[in-house]
Amino acid sequence: AKTIRLILGDQLNARHRWFKTKNSETLYVMMELGQEADYVLHHRQKVLAFFKAMRNFSNALESAGHRIFYLRLEDARNQQSLTKNLLWLLEETGAKHIECQQPDEYRLDHQLKSWAGANNIDIKWFDTEHFLTGRNALKDYFPDTDNYLMETFYRKVRSEHDILMEDGKPIGGRWNFDKENQRKLPKSQSVTEPLVFANDVSDIDNMLSKQNIKTMGNVNPKQLIWPVNRKQAQQLLSYFCEFGLPNFGRYQDTMTTDNITPGAHWSLFHSRLSFALNTKMLHPLEVVHSAVEHWSNNKDTISLAQIEGFVRQVIGWREFVRAIYWKFMPEYKNNNALNHTRALPSYYWNAETKMACMHHSIQQSFDYAYAHHIQRLMVTGNFALLAGVSPDALDDWYLGIYIDAIEWVELPNTRGMSQYADNGLIATKPYISSANYMKKMGHYCSQCHYDPNKKTGDKACPFNSLYWHFINRHKEHFENNHRMGMMYQVWNKKSDDEQNALIQQAEHYLKTINEL
Ligand code: FAD
Ligand code: SF4
Repeated sequence: AKTIRLILGDQLNARHRWFKTKNSETLYVMMELGQEADYVLHHRQKVLAFFKAMRNFSNALESAGHRIFYLRLEDARNQQSLTKNLLWLLEETGAKHIECQQPDEYRLDHQLKSWAGANNIDIKWFDTEHFLTGRNALKDYFPDTDNYLMETFYRKVRSEHDILMEDGKPIGGRWNFDKENQRKLPKSQSVTEPLVFANDVSDIDNMLSKQNIKTMGNVNPKQLIWPVNRKQAQQLLSYFCEFGLPNFGRYQDTMTTDNITPGAHWSLFHSRLSFALNTKMLHPLEVVHSAVEHWSNNKDTISLAQIEGFVRQVIGWREFVRAIYWKFMPEYKNNNALNHTRALPSYYWNAETKMACMHHSIQQSFDYAYAHHIQRLMVTGNFALLAGVSPDALDDWYLGIYIDAIEWVELPNTRGMSQYADNGLIATKPYISSANYMKKMGHYCSQCHYDPNKKTGDKACPFNSLYWHFINRHKEHFENNHRMGMMYQVWNKKSDDEQNALIQQAEHYLKTINEL
């Protein structure tokens, strides 16, 4: 072969221009790497899903007549490093050229570029043809300001791609329906069980055991539930349009338990398309166009607020966090604006806590490698922020546990949106809340050991005193933030005794944090 074309594990885009023509002088290369399986402790379902999807992709390319070299993890020739393997392949094949699609992760981008520099190799780079916006999107969209508002970004992307637009204006005359969305799930509301697959990945599971790859979480390797090929990804998309979209926005922020919505508590009306999107088996425009088409054919059952809520996530938030990532890496990874240093409490690793919200959100993460956005943001993220957990420890946790976790999307969501460690670049105020929010939006509190209405004393909900502890300890940082002013007024009005009691309660909880 004259040319090696590298395909990374999250570049499973069969419709890329590379594959439009066949060339016997081009060798496509895919590798299962120890380097990728253990740069952080991953959920077993995540490693299995990635390797299975990669193997399927490789088989599909081969059937379509392309030349492909697929290096398995257990192959004796595998040096478990991307660049060592590449060097070996260049020698072995005598290939003169190497071509890559731009990695989405800074880590791999850096590894490939410094390797190429050190070895005098000229890599030819290609776009992945996946995202709607480029790595430099912030510069393009905010030429005169560094006040990066997601809403502004989203409106530009939506207009450019003419999604839910009419004569240059948003359909329905409004851009944003957040206020109509975000309701608590009534107990009478039925939720359809999620579509799950039953992929047999026992062979890969055995290989991971033999190769001593350490993982976390639960799995039935005979029935891996995640989509691992394009057909399954498309099935999941259709299923979402039919059963999720009609209630997507409305119950996007709700939280519930198994006894209220049996079998569907963990997924609700969420699409669970993040893995298929992040591996590029699905294109964001394909997802959004399908959803919009389904909405336009079913306007009697699907309101504009539902489809707008969904479109906003896919072409707004998803593209926006990527733009933040590429603008601010590698410094972004070290941000810790609030100087939080606490170790991650033990229940993040075993779900053993009396706090019902934390127990359910963490347990389902182990069971499904999945939690929906509000569980990540307002339960596990919120608790860690209130307790002052180190963003490094949290990044490792979020990056490992979720099926969809790849650094470009995990990092801005964790450090930025959820932990305010970037000093408000993404979130204009910290996402913190006491038990009030949990009570208002979900069904956890009524099943909890703790009392959501108590702030101090026996069985007082930890979120309540920790909330005020946060407000008090970060006074200097937030008192003049206009979106936090109200909370400081409330705090300042409390008597000294009341303030002391709250602080003491929180200090007690922080001292015994692993026992909560
Ligand atoms: P749905 O609720 O059905 O939303 C549809 C799609 O919109 C998602 O598939 C996703 O592609 C996109 N989307 C929605 N919200 C976001 C967002 N905030 N950022 C980027 N895309 C978004 N998402 C990841 O893909 N990978 C991660 O590693 C990741 N880590 C996160 C960590 C924290 C602390 C938080 C608060 C959020 C994180 N998110 C991450 C964002 C979001 O929670 C997930 O994208 C979503 O829960 C995936 O489930 P879904 O496909 O059912 O999403
Ligand atoms: Fe969570 Fe507190 Fe509600 Fe228990 S009472 S579920 S700890 S918010």
